[in-house]
Amino acid sequence: MIRSNPEEMIRKTMAKFVDNEVIPVARELDEKGEFPEALFKKLADMGILGIRYPKKVGGSGGNTTLYCIAMQELARGLMSLAATVAMQCLMATNGLYLYGTKEMHEKFLRPALKGKKIGAFQLTEPDAGSDLGAVKTRATRTRDGYVINGMKTWSTSGTKGDFHTVLCQTDPDKGLKGLGFFLIPSDTPGFSHSKRFDTLGTRTSSLSEIYFNNCHIPSEYRLGEEGRGLNVLLTILAEIRVMTASLALGLHRAAMDDSIKYCKERIAFGKPIARYQLIQAKIANMAVNLEAGSLMVDKVVRLIDKKIPCLNEATMAKYFTVESACKTSDEAMRIFGGYGYSMEYPVQRYYRDNRFLLYGGGTHEVLQTTIAREILKK
Ligand SMILES: Cc1cc2nc3c(=O)[nH]c(=O)nc-3n(C[C@H](O)[C@H](O)[C@H](O)COP(=O)(O)OP(=O)(O)OC[C@H]3O[C@@H](n4cnc5c(N)ncnc54)[C@H](O)[C@@H]3O)c2cc1C
Repeated sequence: MIRSNPEEMIRKTMAKFVDNEVIPVARELDEKGEFPEALFKKLADMGILGIRYPKKVGGSGGNTTLYCIAMQELARGLMSLAATVAMQCLMATNGLYLYGTKEMHEKFLRPALKGKKIGAFQLTEPDAGSDLGAVKTRATRTRDGYVINGMKTWSTSGTKGDFHTVLCQTDPDKGLKGLGFFLIPSDTPGFSHSKRFDTLGTRTSSLSEIYFNNCHIPSEYRLGEEGRGLNVLLTILAEIRVMTASLALGLHRAAMDDSIKYCKERIAFGKPIARYQLIQAKIANMAVNLEAGSLMVDKVVRLIDKKIPCLNEATMAKYFTVESACKTSDEAMRIFGGYGYSMEYPVQRYYRDNRFLLYGGGTHEVLQTTIAREILKK
């Protein structure tokens, strides 16, 4: 594949950053489960948080291709850092960028792209995950704005967010057609959150529940039209899915690289385990799946940058790369034998962290259903 210079540059810069600054602290961050404040700030200074936004709003003037290359490299180092940054770059800020006023851009967007404010994005509720029609968090019109009541769960950066892009129901009789997005700053009276969730993987993501108790917000904090929440989500759904696929590629690469190194070093029955064909088969499958997934992601990011609709291709890329990353981290654990089970080696972290990718951006059962629906309707 021929890559133009900005793509090579971002890949090299991010690879260096990940090797020198992320990998050395990844284990400690994962164990502590704290928000990776210092790395987040450094990435902001490097312009990564604004990578897919134009310079006029404080971005770096890049595109989806560059964004996904950066996220891929970051996920190679630490998935939960990549997930937090990916959220800040896209879901937490895109509605604000598209529908926010100039004042809102100055107050929230520009500081977010510079790492001075943290954003979060909330669809999920305790009784509404894949089924967004079941969202109950209510936005009720007042004379000069809205009052928000309800709760959300599984909010990435939930305990750290300065502002929240939240999917609310404006008219319960309308179901999916009553949904809309609203910006809710965390200093709004009535806003609160739970303590950080204790999770299997992505432990630095500051996941929490979020509560809205009579939160009053002005009308301009509605992001897009009332009742058009699903359409707002659809404008970035392909990008969310290809971003998730990019995170999977990064994790896949880390697990594969570690496996290659280990199988050349580990001696069993007088020779490196790399010489056994069953180990070679695992490495071959890892490499083939990584290559195939990379080609799928590369196709989708370029379609997105050309503004060509590609939701089904993005869904397939997410499904394939995440399933491959899950398989690869499982195989990596086996190549490491008993040592794969020790916290000393990062393969166990890849195995834990990859589970998050199975839910974020859509569960795989739902994705399979939508891929099949698209194909069967032809
Ligand atoms: C680490 C992590 C971070 C997250 N971050 C965020 C975040 O920042 N913001 C946010 O809004 N959400 C976030 N989520 C939530 C995530 O988006 C949801 O977990 C996901 O949408 C699935 O919802 P659910 O967990 O309620 O599962 P459910 O939707 O209840 O699904 C349960 C099971 O039923 C299956 N299922 C459901 N519907 C169908 C169907 N139609 N056909 C076949 N099978 C079906 C699912 O595939 C799954 O196996 C996060 C989750 C995790 C684990």
